[in-house]
Amino acid sequence: MVISCWGALIRKLLMMRPQVVFVLGGPGAGKGTQCAKIVKKYGYTHLSAGDLLRSERSKEGTEYGELIASFIKEGKIVPVAITIQLIKKAMEEKMAQDSAKNTFLIDGFPRNADNLSGWNNHMNGYADVKFVLFFDCSNEVCIERCLERGKASGRTDDNAESLQKRIQTYMQSTKPIIDEYEKEGKVRRVDGAKTVEQVFLDVQKIFDSEN
Ligand code: UDP
Ligand code: MG
Repeated sequence: MVISCWGALIRKLLMMRPQVVFVLGGPGAGKGTQCAKIVKKYGYTHLSAGDLLRSERSKEGTEYGELIASFIKEGKIVPVAITIQLIKKAMEEKMAQDSAKNTFLIDGFPRNADNLSGWNNHMNGYADVKFVLFFDCSNEVCIERCLERGKASGRTDDNAESLQKRIQTYMQSTKPIIDEYEKEGKVRRVDGAKTVEQVFLDVQKIFDSEN
């Protein structure tokens, strides 16, 4: 009787543990756009690491505002201690509001080896990574989309100069992380160069078979 109670409790705790999908791909590959659609259809909570950093950057009196601003403009990756703290806080806040909301899309993270080891050090045992959704898209298409977005986005990094650096960071630092996950059989690849609706059809096939 006691044992079965504990068993039930442990099962419940495991079920409630945050279930995470990492969403990766080059700048402008479609991560944010597709995440919004996944949220609507599958009820995940979308956490964009870039958005969390941008909002921290613009906070009054924040210790890291200037560092974050310059890293973003230079297309460099912010030290993981900062990013992971923002991600974990956002997850905890969501689950404190509603403990049943334990599925998360973490968009634009992990972007390099420092991010990945930071995640493993802080989140192993706290959250499970279900799989990595990878939007595969050529650099040319990514650059073109970001320049187009830059006309209205107001982002300090959607310009030709920052984009060159972001693409370089992506190729040098992020792609190897995706390749690592690929070896573990965790990557679900989608052709990100198609139209938004076509890409979402492919995304749905993945989520329908995973859930
Ligand atoms: N960034 C970072 N760590 C992260 C996510 C983003 O340092 O985990 C910074 C990095 O400088 C990156 C920028 O934020 O180039 C913009 O990231 P975002 O994901 O918003 O860009 P996207 O890939 O969606 O265009
Ligand atoms: Mg984005």
